[in-house]
Amino acid sequence: MDAIKRIFENNRAWVRETMRQDPGFFQRMLKGQSPNFLFIGCSDSRVPANVITGTTGGEMFVHRNVANQAIPSDLNMLAVLQYAVDVLKVPHVVVCGHYGCGGVKAALELPDGQHELVDQWLGHVRQVRRRHHAELASLDAEAQARRLVELNVIEQVQHLAMTSVVRAARQRGQDLHLWGWVYSIGDGLLHTLEVNTAVDEVPELARVGA
Ligand SMILES: [Zn+2]
Repeated sequence: MDAIKRIFENNRAWVRETMRQDPGFFQRMLKGQSPNFLFIGCSDSRVPANVITGTTGGEMFVHRNVANQAIPSDLNMLAVLQYAVDVLKVPHVVVCGHYGCGGVKAALELPDGQHELVDQWLGHVRQVRRRHHAELASLDAEAQARRLVELNVIEQVQHLAMTSVVRAARQRGQDLHLWGWVYSIGDGLLHTLEVNTAVDEVPELARVGA
């Protein structure tokens, strides 16, 4: 129970500190939200969206799942995307993967039959792996895992570009940018991936930029 007690103590301390630094914060929160970002990240506890981006309440709409996937048949993700784009009108949608992703590593291995639901979910990452087999086969195990993290992010961004939500927003001229990022859990740095999101073009492979 100590862990739970600590959470509530932290919460009270956070309220006190927030009120001291920004007395109007909670009143502003009551009025509604107008975030600039939809962040689609991995559920991994080492990739907390607000912490790694230095943002606070009201700045980032967040959706997380194992291996930061944006699967076009995932009603949960689509509902988040639609609300973010159509109602909140976020100008930036980000898919953020991370090196050292357990989900991506598992997708490089055969399903062990122990975690059926997770294995099923990771089937989509395995498809990414199969599509890029030639490139991945030339790398050692560690480089393969890192590259598959990047390739997975790129494909998820391309999935987003193909959704009816994003296509409709673009057709009506809404300000909407899609981004692919990778977070490095070893040093805390975010990196941008180059992603071609022109829907009708063949996906280009990306490289990491600073
Ligand atoms: Zn992960």
